[in-house]
Amino acid sequence: MGDDGPCEAADLCIERAIVHGYKKESDLELAALTKAIELRGFDWDYQKRAHFYERAGDYDKALADYTTALDREESSESYLLRGAVFFKKKDYDSAISDFLNSVKCCSWCGEMPNDLHGPMRRLFRKDNGKRCGECLECFYMCGLSYHKKGDLKSAIKYLNKALWRDSDFEKAKALKEFILAEEKR
Ligand SMILES: [Zn+2]
Repeated sequence: MGDDGPCEAADLCIERAIVHGYKKESDLELAALTKAIELRGFDWDYQKRAHFYERAGDYDKALADYTTALDREESSESYLLRGAVFFKKKDYDSAISDFLNSVKCCSWCGEMPNDLHGPMRRLFRKDNGKRCGECLECFYMCGLSYHKKGDLKSAIKYLNKALWRDSDFEKAKALKEFILAEEKR
C-alpha cells in the first residue's frame, strides 16, 4: 500500500468488505469493517458495521455501533438508522425519540432563517421538507411506532406531518387510511 494514509487504507477495507458481502463471506466482511474502524473510526465506519450487525439480526451490537457513530458525529442519518433498529426491537419510545432527533438534526429541513415569521415560516418548512425524503421517512416511522403502541391519535398526527410536506407520500396515505378505518370499528 506504499505510503497511503490510514484513510485510504480504511477505504480499501470498506471496498473489501463489500466484495466479501457479495460472496456471502460474513466473517471476512465483519473483519474488514472492524479493520476500517481501527484504522479510521469515522461515524460512517461505525454505521457500516452497525448495518452489518442489523442484517445479521444482532440488534444490540447494531445499537452499540450506531450509538458510537452518534458520539463521533451527531447526524440525522445515524438517528434515523438507530431509530429503525429500536423499532425492530419493539422499543417504540426510543425509536420515536430517535426519529424526532433526526428531524431536528436535518440540515435540510432544520435550518430556518431567523427573520422569517408566521406563514413564511410554514412555507419555508413545507418547501424544504418536501425535498427531504429522510424527514418524511422519520415522520412516517413515528406514525408507525405510535400505531404499534396503540396510540392512534398520535399516529395520525405524525402521518399528517408527513402528508403536509408531501401529499403524495403513498406509504403514509395508506397507513392513515388503515388507521382511520380501524378507528371506526
Ligand atoms: Zn429533513
